[in-house]
Amino acid sequence: MSDMDRRRFIRSAAAAGVAISAPDSLFGEGRAPAVHAQDRVAPKVIADRTGYTSRDESGTNAVSRALRGITGGEDVLDALIAGVTIPERDPEETGVGYGGVPNAEGVVQLDAACMHGPRGWAGGVGALEGVRTPSLVARDVMAQTDHHLLAGEGAQKFARQMGYEIEDSLTTDNSLRIWREWKRRIDPEHWLDPSERQEAGRQAAREMIREGLVDRTTYRGTIHCAGITPSGDVSAVTTTSGLWFKLPGRVGDSPILGAGLYVDNDVGTSGSTGRGEANLYNLSSFRAVQLMRDGRHPKDAGMEALRRIRDSTRDPRLMDEEGRPAFNVRFFLLNREGQHAGVAMYAGGDAESEYALCTEEGAELMTFEPLLEGGPAG
Ligand code: ASP
Repeated sequence: MSDMDRRRFIRSAAAAGVAISAPDSLFGEGRAPAVHAQDRVAPKVIADRTGYTSRDESGTNAVSRALRGITGGEDVLDALIAGVTIPERDPEETGVGYGGVPNAEGVVQLDAACMHGPRGWAGGVGALEGVRTPSLVARDVMAQTDHHLLAGEGAQKFARQMGYEIEDSLTTDNSLRIWREWKRRIDPEHWLDPSERQEAGRQAAREMIREGLVDRTTYRGTIHCAGITPSGDVSAVTTTSGLWFKLPGRVGDSPILGAGLYVDNDVGTSGSTGRGEANLYNLSSFRAVQLMRDGRHPKDAGMEALRRIRDSTRDPRLMDEEGRPAFNVRFFLLNREGQHAGVAMYAGGDAESEYALCTEEGAELMTFEPLLEGGPAG
């Protein structure tokens, strides 16, 4: 069955309420279609720190799993997604999938998206409840429908039709403990003036980090993971439980093409974590890929995207006393030559300072190049 036939078949079967299990691979067994004939690049995978620290039962982390798939001939996006399902399923990882810290009403709502460089396909889900692995559902939106983005109940219904298990709740004892403590601190009635409530929420979260109740490196988790094959094909995936304690229904940058991630197989990839609204305002990932298209090195492109965010941040509540952004944003960039960069608005103070990289030499933690000194005030 051709891809288009398969899409049509799946659509009509889904409309008829038939449950169809997710395919194991986008391209079946064996290697993905070879778009670029000659191997010429050292394969590489880049991701958030979570891609190094979160491990499955065998001790494998996301970047190593993804690189193993790429070098073993698996489709590049399948390999990356297999990697990020490790933190998605990890109950200890509080920024992604199962065990992600819930929204303001105690419900875990997940965002994810993926882009397949060689095919030029993309798929995403927003505010999805009850499925531990939104990255796989995003892949199915990409491969099985004519759409890019499904959100909320529609996304969950699609996942059910694709055969995913829908759980009543993705919270764990740990994520609920964090949420209850936050709720207790901000307001027993949970309804202050919206601006006070926002400040009270931020203040409570900051105190909880200072007191060691919450690990600062997993506060605002998210994993973005991008990779390149020996033939220079690129793909990327992002998956997150979004900003902690967000308003129900809030969808961040992660599933929005051009904001949280963008892939152009002729150029490279850009993905981001941190304050999603900043990337939504600036379509940062699209901008960074365009800059690479114009010949900029991944590091320069990422720095330019950060400068744009810094310069467009005008709202006093989002700025520190010196007028700098009071939040952090990080970019992970990879071009078709296999050059990469990890850049961040801040990499000092309380900010996360490392990201994950995996080459055929193995997985390691790398240090972000910061645009600004110190750490974010917020
Ligand atoms: N970018 C994500 C969002 O805004 C959060 C994060 O990366 O920590 O939902």
